[in-house]
Amino acid sequence: MKPESSIIKEIRKSVLNTECPACGNETMDSMVSILDLPMLGEAVETTLVCPKCGFKTSDVMITEQNEPVRYTLKVETPEDVNARVVRSTSGTIRMPELGILIEPGPASEAFISNIEGVLVRVMSILEGTEHEKKEELERKMDEIHRAGDALLKFTFIIEDPFGNSAILSEKARKEALSPEEVKQLRRGEPDMNI
Ligand SMILES: [Zn+2]
Repeated sequence: MKPESSIIKEIRKSVLNTECPACGNETMDSMVSILDLPMLGEAVETTLVCPKCGFKTSDVMITEQNEPVRYTLKVETPEDVNARVVRSTSGTIRMPELGILIEPGPASEAFISNIEGVLVRVMSILEGTEHEKKEELERKMDEIHRAGDALLKFTFIIEDPFGNSAILSEKARKEALSPEEVKQLRRGEPDMNI
């Protein structure tokens, strides 16, 4: 799900003299969207696309929230499944009951979606993996499907050491992360996997 046009305040397009990390092309097309998010205020979404090979990278920054933060939402209703999620490249997503963990890494993507959209992403990743136990994979996919239809209650947690991720729901609990908790999070830099 792309953010609705009503929340986009401004879009700036330009061409940057930045080398494409995939093919070495000398420029990248840049698109900067200024968003006005309910409950959060301004966010800036930046997307770079290589005009030659199509390589794409994006990130999102929440202007008024820059402390380490955790949002927790008990997903119980179709409305909860529809809650909007902002995930920057430094955001860690956990759904403990579903055994899902999405951590920052060199290939991690920023997105603004809803919880259902995150589950769809997880399913498409699972579909693409070679799984030794086919039945186990099918059971997992079925479980995620039911979670997406709000037939299964689960907890959705997003943590971000830079405060650039959030769940946009009145029901979500927001807390500051302790320095110890921040230390245990991956931050999205390459070679920080330990
Ligand atoms: Zn390229």
